[in-house]
Amino acid sequence: MQGIFIIFNFFKKIIGVVSESVETDIEPEATAVRIYTRSEHSISRSQISEHALKVLYQLKKSGYDSYLVGGCVRDLLLGREPKDFDVVTNATPEQIKKVFRNCRLIGRRFRLAHIYFGRDYIEVATFRRVADSEDDEQQVYANGQLLRDNIYGTLEEDVWRRDFTVNALYYNIRDFSVVDYTGGMVDHTAGVIKLIGDPATRYREDPVRMLRAVRFAVKLGFNIDHETQKPLMELSQLLHTIPSARLYEEFLKLFMFGYGLQTFEMLRHYGLFGALFPAVERNLEHEAHGFPKLFIAKALENSDVRVAEGLPVTPYFLLSVFLWGAVQDLAKQKIQEGLPATPAHQIAASEIISEQVKRIAFPKFMGIAMRDVWYLQSRFGQRTGARPFKLLTHPRFKAAFDFLVLRAAAGDVDAELVEWWQAFQAAEDNEQSAMTQPGHAKKDAPRRRYRNKNYRNKSKANRTPKELHD
Ligand code: ATP
Ligand code: MG
Repeated sequence: MQGIFIIFNFFKKIIGVVSESVETDIEPEATAVRIYTRSEHSISRSQISEHALKVLYQLKKSGYDSYLVGGCVRDLLLGREPKDFDVVTNATPEQIKKVFRNCRLIGRRFRLAHIYFGRDYIEVATFRRVADSEDDEQQVYANGQLLRDNIYGTLEEDVWRRDFTVNALYYNIRDFSVVDYTGGMVDHTAGVIKLIGDPATRYREDPVRMLRAVRFAVKLGFNIDHETQKPLMELSQLLHTIPSARLYEEFLKLFMFGYGLQTFEMLRHYGLFGALFPAVERNLEHEAHGFPKLFIAKALENSDVRVAEGLPVTPYFLLSVFLWGAVQDLAKQKIQEGLPATPAHQIAASEIISEQVKRIAFPKFMGIAMRDVWYLQSRFGQRTGARPFKLLTHPRFKAAFDFLVLRAAAGDVDAELVEWWQAFQAAEDNEQSAMTQPGHAKKDAPRRRYRNKNYRNKSKANRTPKELHD
């Protein structure tokens, strides 16, 4: 069945907001809304969470419009289970509160409603629009950057403040249709991430959209539209204007959800990685024998495998891998300047951490954990007497050993050292004592006495990154 075309003229609104501060060459033109009826798309109610359906129906019953929007519609169309279900409505937060007993309003400037079902909640937002008067602009924009968008509007207006066309599809609970003002459905079918409006303008409004473009392209296996990718390299430095706390959130979304390696490569390709991790980028630029790129790539590959297997991944571990090469470089420099090795490493670690935390505000305890992992690397070489036993009991031993395994895999440390520590951990008490006798360590690091039969029977070459990690 053919969709219904209705012609609207909304471009005035989107370009209205940017014409003062940023150049734009969008000509006002007619925009079509396309309604995809139930038979024209693949979303079925059985894919939608029971709680989200309850909220949608309850709003409808109370006389309001209610839609699913954003990532959940995009993911449902791919047959994937969405991370969460976002609802939008024409009801104001106060009206929403009257409809639901289990409702809490959050946010001071822009109020959102959370409808609780036990510990789960569904977020409900009121349609918003982008500013379209000079007064609005003064409130909302500074140097082209969007400071807040908190003016209520209609669905037709809500569309234009969204980032990508595939994120601007609305599933209407009234007739189960999908409402599309921006060509998102066609882009979705073609697998294209395309910004709504003029890309450079939209990136200037909110530079985090550059990271989002990469994140969605990788996660969905989509391509970034040509015009949408063009300004990335040039505008990447705008990420410096983003608060470090927000970039920490983005860092987690970019690297902790199972697509870290591809994300890393794509961020580097578009010059975005260096805007997030300047010291790491400097270090990567003069890599030798594939290090540290190989080391970072192995760690990301490993952590992607863990996510796929439902195992936890720790952000500080990845951060410690990212920054390791930079710390080593700086320490070397300090040693050349005459500092002894230990303080050189300590000072280098502090300096790199404080530079990085200004960009990406990771919590303080992570900095401490990273320093532990780095410091412990120097202790793996000490294999005689009581020292290896002491190292085993260190609370950060496991992470530090995983780190060592990755270094060996990337050629940064001798594989024999890893094999010795694997054997040492698996050995019986008396064997452990024998292994720590002076002169024993190097000459016969035993490969024989693994406790774990499965592990022993599998040659190292056949072990998965996870097994090497464990
Ligand atoms: P995810 O699966 O990662 O949650 P998502 O698309 O739902 O993806 P959210 O950050 O949850 O992403 O945002 C929900 C929706 O809000 C987006 O789909 C988009 O329509 C809109 N949105 C979010 N962030 C921005 C932004 N920075 N600029 C414009 N629109 C945004
Ligand atoms: Mg979401």
